[in-house]
Amino acid sequence: MSTPVGPLDASVVPRFAGVRTFARLPLVDDVESVDVAVLGAPFDGGTTFRAGARFGPAAVRESSVLLRSFNPNIGIAPFEAAQVADAGDAFGNPVDIVAAHEAIRSSAAGLIATGAGVIGIGGDHSVSLPLVSAAAERHGPLGLVQLDAHTDTWDAYFGSKLTHGTMFRRAIESGVIDPDRSVQIGLRGSLYSGDDEAANHRLGFRTLTAREFDHDAAIEMVRRQATGSIYLTVDIDVLDPAFAPGTGTPEVGGLTTRELVALLVGIGEELGPRLVGADVVEVSPPYDPTGITALAGANVAYHLVSMLAANR
Ligand code: MN
Ligand code: MN
Repeated sequence: MSTPVGPLDASVVPRFAGVRTFARLPLVDDVESVDVAVLGAPFDGGTTFRAGARFGPAAVRESSVLLRSFNPNIGIAPFEAAQVADAGDAFGNPVDIVAAHEAIRSSAAGLIATGAGVIGIGGDHSVSLPLVSAAAERHGPLGLVQLDAHTDTWDAYFGSKLTHGTMFRRAIESGVIDPDRSVQIGLRGSLYSGDDEAANHRLGFRTLTAREFDHDAAIEMVRRQATGSIYLTVDIDVLDPAFAPGTGTPEVGGLTTRELVALLVGIGEELGPRLVGADVVEVSPPYDPTGITALAGANVAYHLVSMLAANR
């Protein structure tokens, strides 16, 4: 392997200068081959409440300029261990969810076909459906580790089967996700009915609610349930609104950013090379003038990139 092309040198080009790519990394087209590709998916046509996650990828890139080369939580310099590059944005018709999802799936599949692992940046959570589908085309049915306030396994909303609250039921129906190897961590908030939790469990998921959350219990659940090849999805609303106010459907009583970082590190150690793809979604900048949500999103993406790079 040739020496990876890393981020712009901050001692030469200041962090606030230059055109924004994720972590000031090169674009995919500017390097020979890519181990880990960061792909934006600026689509929020699956949103059921407040929209705005279409601006997520740009805000995450803007917040990512402060990411430095060494990740002490994992003990790796991800941009030296692997060639990481920014693949730009996958976009399609912004008012046609089927066409938009196909554009995202196609972009991700193209990157995966070159041997790259893909880290997606949403976008509303519906973009995880084409992202995990592209990963499953390569690796077969995947277990899902989902960090989220919501199950996203409802059947329909206003009669629509494709939304950011229903896509994981679709992924189970199409055989992309194996619910018996899947876990959801951080669930909370009011529900439509008393049967919502039971219906989710009947699909096969193991769950750890935010109220029950405990780091060791979460890692133990991943160890027992999430076998085989795994896709990791981080809905930024797993964080408490105090840490991530800029999101489509905020719920009180969530994780702290510190808890989430520790959880990601633990999950990464547990999964190792079984992690085949990941995303961070639902960063909605219009609801967060402080930018802390996008900053959290950028750091989550950095950990996801580090996890994939560590196994290259
Ligand atoms: Mn959610
Ligand atoms: Mn979600």
